[in-house]
Amino acid sequence: MNLMLMGLPGAGKGTQAEKIVDKYHIIHVSTGDMFREAMANKTAVGLKAKAFMDQGELVPDEVTNQIVQERLAQDDISQSGYMLDGFPRNLAQAKALDEINAQLNKKLDAVINIDVDPKLLVERLSGRFICRNCGATYHKLYNPPKVEGTCDRCGGHEFYQREDDQPQTVKNRLDVNIKMNTPLIDYYQNAGILKQVDGAQEIDQVFAQIDLFLRKIN
Ligand code: ADP
Ligand code: AMP
Repeated sequence: MNLMLMGLPGAGKGTQAEKIVDKYHIIHVSTGDMFREAMANKTAVGLKAKAFMDQGELVPDEVTNQIVQERLAQDDISQSGYMLDGFPRNLAQAKALDEINAQLNKKLDAVINIDVDPKLLVERLSGRFICRNCGATYHKLYNPPKVEGTCDRCGGHEFYQREDDQPQTVKNRLDVNIKMNTPLIDYYQNAGILKQVDGAQEIDQVFAQIDLFLRKIN
C-alpha cells in the first residue's frame, strides 16, 4: 500500500504517521525529516535546503523531487510500501511523483488530507516538541508524554523544538502552504483517490477515522 498524508504544517501528519506505520508496517517518508537530517549532516542537499527552510520557504522542486525519487527506489519500500508525509507540496511535485511512480512501477493508492482550520495551527506548532532519539512528536498541552520528560516510544529523555516553529517563521510557512494546498486537493480529488479527515478532533479520533479508511483499502 502506498499512501500520501497531506495537511498544512501542524495539521498532525507526523503524529498520525507514527500510528499508521506502527499498525500497517509501511515506510514513513517525510521530506522535512530528510532535509533536517541532511542539514544536521551538512550534506550538499542539506546545505542547499538550509536557507529555504530557515525562511519557511519551499526547497526548490528539483532538489526535493530528486531525494524522493532516490528514496522510493530503495528495496525496503518495494517490499513494504510508502507513506509520504510533506510531499508533494505543489502541483509540479504531484506531477513529478506520478512520473516517479510510473518509472518504478508503483501506484499511489490513497491521499489522506488532514483538514484543520489554519487558526488552530500556530498554537499547535508553538507547543510542539520532538524526541531527539526517535523523532516522536509531542505537544505541551494536547499530547504530552505519559511520564513527564520521558518519551513514550523509546524512553529517551532529550527533546527539542524545531527552529522553524518560531512564530516569525510559522506565519510564512503557513502562507506558503495555504497557497499551494487547494490546487493539490483538486488534483487528487480529480484523480479519485482523496480521503478527507477532520483533523480538529482529538489525536485518537483522527486516527480512528484514518484507520477505518485504511482497513477498507488494505
Ligand atoms: P505536521 O507533521 O502536520 O506538521 P505534527 O504531527 O507534528 O504536524 O503536529 C503538530 C503539533 O500538534 C504537535 O505538537 C502534535 O503533538 C500536535 N497535534 C497533532 N495532532 C493533534 C490533534 N489532533 N489535536 C491537538 N494537537 C495535535
Ligand atoms: P515539514 O517537516 O514537512 O514541516 O517541512 C519543513 C520544511 O522542509 C518546509 O518548510 C520546507 O522548507 C522543507 N520541505 C519539506 N517538504 C518539502 C517539499 N515537499 N517541497 C519543498 N520543501 C519542503
